[in-house]
Amino acid sequence: MSAATLLRDVFGFDAFRPGQQDIVEAVAAGRNTLAIMPTGGGKSLCFQLPALMRSGVTVVISPLIALMRDQVRGLQQAGVVAGALTSGNTEEETEAVWSALESGTLKLLYMAPERLSAGGTVQMLQRAGVSLIAVDEAHCVSQWGHDFRPDYLRIGDLREALDVPLAAFTATADAETQAEIVQKLFAGQQPATFLHGFDRPNIHLAFAAKDSPRAQILTFAAARKGQSGIVYTGTRAKTETLAQALREAGHLACHYHGGMEAEDRRIVERRFQQEDGLIVCATVAFGMGIDKPDIRWVAHADLPKSIEAYYQEIGRAGRDGAPAETLTLFGPDDIRYRRQQIDEGLAPADRRTADHGRLNALLGLAEALHCRRQTLLSYFGETSDPCGHCDLCDKPAEVFDATTPVRMALSAALRTEEYFGAGHLIDILLGQPTDKIKARGHDSLPTYGVGRDYDRRQWQAIFRQMMGHDLLRPDRDRHGALRMTDHARPILRGEAQIMLRRDTITAAKGAGPKVH
Ligand code: ADP
Repeated sequence: MSAATLLRDVFGFDAFRPGQQDIVEAVAAGRNTLAIMPTGGGKSLCFQLPALMRSGVTVVISPLIALMRDQVRGLQQAGVVAGALTSGNTEEETEAVWSALESGTLKLLYMAPERLSAGGTVQMLQRAGVSLIAVDEAHCVSQWGHDFRPDYLRIGDLREALDVPLAAFTATADAETQAEIVQKLFAGQQPATFLHGFDRPNIHLAFAAKDSPRAQILTFAAARKGQSGIVYTGTRAKTETLAQALREAGHLACHYHGGMEAEDRRIVERRFQQEDGLIVCATVAFGMGIDKPDIRWVAHADLPKSIEAYYQEIGRAGRDGAPAETLTLFGPDDIRYRRQQIDEGLAPADRRTADHGRLNALLGLAEALHCRRQTLLSYFGETSDPCGHCDLCDKPAEVFDATTPVRMALSAALRTEEYFGAGHLIDILLGQPTDKIKARGHDSLPTYGVGRDYDRRQWQAIFRQMMGHDLLRPDRDRHGALRMTDHARPILRGEAQIMLRRDTITAAKGAGPKVH
């Protein structure tokens, strides 16, 4: 049967979603394939449909039992012979899988990667007439991602043992993860690669400078009372305090993080799935496997760790296609925290550089001067017109030539041997005779007191934007000390200008600001 007929008759869809047809054709033709599609983009169809077009059985490696069971149930209801071998199986279910395998009627066999380490699994699959391996959530093979599953590393061997085509699927689009997937799953041989449909036009994008985060989140939630939402926070403790604050404000709210008992986490997951209008305050542990189509909003009380993480997290909103809202708060502490996390992590140096780059991309998005969606999509390799559905399209950012204050700030950092954090540098710029300034003799620097046209909060906003533009970076070996990056040199030398956003700076000053 043709793909179009199967799509209609078995899956009940009238048309392919963007990108699906190309992927289906490549996979059905037996090409090694890597498909990158956002969550909710319709990846499963891209291996389920080819599985029906090919002879024999397709093995699907998937990391989550709940997802496997869901898909198997869906397929069975559509009349497809599919089964899963999971630890959650009843004896009858396992029996049914074995007999369908033996009779050659089984078309899709789901299993967790851990199964591959069980004795005999590979031999069993060799006998079973497997014609295709599909790998869901293929980024789990990446050792540096937080979803790393060591058993995913066995998939490469499985592909070689079975000598059949492999199709890998993921929503993670960054280049390093892709390279790792190609390395580990395809032994370095570049597969046919598809990247599609990253735009989620129904999601409104917005960022705000972190001012009083709890009040900002409460205001955002108050305007959406009764709607299901997620608040992501950077720490476990904050999930609890924020949930409490939301409850006190009359919301239905609970918390979720990786330190909770498995059973308590399941209760929250179930409640979120079933109840309307529940807010979950969570760390990123609340993620993969949430399949609730009508999440109306996602807020970040703290800056996510990278542009990919941001995209995945906001992408949980509005999967039903109805309007959804997002708000991401960010401040200098977030930037410092995220940089520190990267620097103190165990990743090798080149990986850390890449992680800084991904954080920079997110900061660039946070401090974007034009349409956020354009900025976001261009990172994923897609072009688009201004979207008309983000805070910057709603109200364009005003910018000003900040070359002079930025040069002052850089000069303060350089003249103090790049040894101090923003607080002390601002004291110098403002000419504050603090004990530390006097003890170090910094009151005799030429930069001392040159920055009085701005107040402390404005300077904080300037420093934050400078970190956002990666002009200054905290030095991992000197706690909090700001070091100038190569991007800053042309500005310091007077060879380049820098524009910064005016709004966060004027907002910082209060009434009647003097901004040049
Ligand atoms: P992903 O695995 O990419 O997150 P899924 O495969 O779960 O996404 O698909 C998301 C939703 O889109 C599912 O409800 C699925 O039934 C639906 N879907 C997939 N393909 C199509 C299509 N061509 N037309 C309509 N709906 C589709």
